[in-house]
Amino acid sequence: MSQFDYDLFVIGAGSGGVRAARISASHGAKVAIAEEYRVGGTCVIRGCVPKKMLVYGSMFAEELSHAEKYGWSVGEKSFDWAALRDFVNGDVDRLEGLYGKTLESHDVELIAERATIAGPNTVKLASGREITAKHILIAVGAWPAMPDFPGVEHCISSNEIFHLEQQPKCLMVVGGGYIAMEFAGIFNALGSEVTVVNRSDKILRSYDDQIVERMLHIAMGRGINFRMHSEIKSVERTAEGCLSVDLGESNRVQVDQILIATGRNPKTDGLGLENAGVQLGEKGEIIVDEYNRTSCESIYAVGDVTDRVQLTPVAIREGHAFADSVFGGNPRTIDYDFIPSAVFSQPPLAGVGMTEKEARRTHGNVRVYSSDFRPMKNIFSPHAERGLYKMIVDDTSGKILGIHMIGPESPEILQVAAVALKAGLTKDAFDDTVALHPSMAEELVLLK
Ligand code: NDP
Repeated sequence: MSQFDYDLFVIGAGSGGVRAARISASHGAKVAIAEEYRVGGTCVIRGCVPKKMLVYGSMFAEELSHAEKYGWSVGEKSFDWAALRDFVNGDVDRLEGLYGKTLESHDVELIAERATIAGPNTVKLASGREITAKHILIAVGAWPAMPDFPGVEHCISSNEIFHLEQQPKCLMVVGGGYIAMEFAGIFNALGSEVTVVNRSDKILRSYDDQIVERMLHIAMGRGINFRMHSEIKSVERTAEGCLSVDLGESNRVQVDQILIATGRNPKTDGLGLENAGVQLGEKGEIIVDEYNRTSCESIYAVGDVTDRVQLTPVAIREGHAFADSVFGGNPRTIDYDFIPSAVFSQPPLAGVGMTEKEARRTHGNVRVYSSDFRPMKNIFSPHAERGLYKMIVDDTSGKILGIHMIGPESPEILQVAAVALKAGLTKDAFDDTVALHPSMAEELVLLK
């Protein structure tokens, strides 16, 4: 008989936690997982999945007008935000159910309560019950960072935007990162007037400058307003129910909603980590080694709470590697090189590897190949939007250092291109590959 109630107790049933729990259980561990909100975590409940569905929903505005050019009569068009919102949230419910079933079918006990750390091998549930476990895994994710200005309580984060009663006529989006660009694109396409307020003149900082520049150009062409070098000083709710925003220097504007998208912080507050001597970094992130182990030997952490790479597929890999290492007799680490990522803006952009600036800084001599083209799909676009693909190549070895793209379906194309970088291929391998015509992806094998 084990001296502990469980071999593994996981706190947080998001992408990383669920993967770790089910793989550990399949290795024979007795596992419980605690979740204070809904099974699925940020990605499934209020992140990647519902966001992508909103992107799809919003794209119909343009696609329906294209349909008419192709001879389809679509009649009078109207849009019902509540219908889209409820459809998306209905699918989130379905997925949450599937996640619950996965845990059940792997004999992982789900405890629908908040759990905190009471000691190196003890967790305390909100009900007061204490549970012991040989290992504890913290996978509680991150939480929207809200700036500190008077009236911030009138603003929403990406947590709330999926549940809005009404579509905002005027939406202000604060920040210039993933969430800001994605929701600016969604609500702009749906017909809201969107203004992005950003503290610097730089958006999507980790992406290639030229690709971001193209994104900005297109977004402005589509009617998104940008106020760079701008910050909210205060917000007041008016008698009519609008939000009056003071942007300083006598700039006051009225909007219906303000979405704050200024990053996400590890959700470690009140988690009782001090009870087990778990060390935190400056942002409150849990510090772990390459095997996801914290400064307390029996406690591990994966995903956004460790603030390494805040991406779902990374959390899933970390959770899986943890389970294989601790319960599968196969200690392994994660390779963080060449992680592809995308912003589901409209159009989307995607990148893997080094940007041109990074490559020039670290490698000196690099060759840059690019294709600036008008996708066939855009022939009816009133804005004549162009796609841009870039390949950065090390001049000495010929190896590809980075691929960056903006245009329709670019995340779909980039996922496959990322395999080439991971495999250490040179540009010759692309040149040797026959183009698939007509496609947008063929631009990658025709780069000059
Ligand atoms: P990001 O880190 O992408 O961007 C944060 C933005 O907010 C930056 O423009 C930053 O500016 C700005 N900012 C930060 N602090 C302040 C402040 N105090 N005042 C004003 N502006 C500020 O964060 P998001 O919130 O957009 O997304 C959080 C994370 O979620 C991302 O890091 C990403 O990993 C993940 N995510 C991934 C998605 C995807 O894969 N498609 C989609 C959505 C989220 P500056 O550049 O000057 O620091």
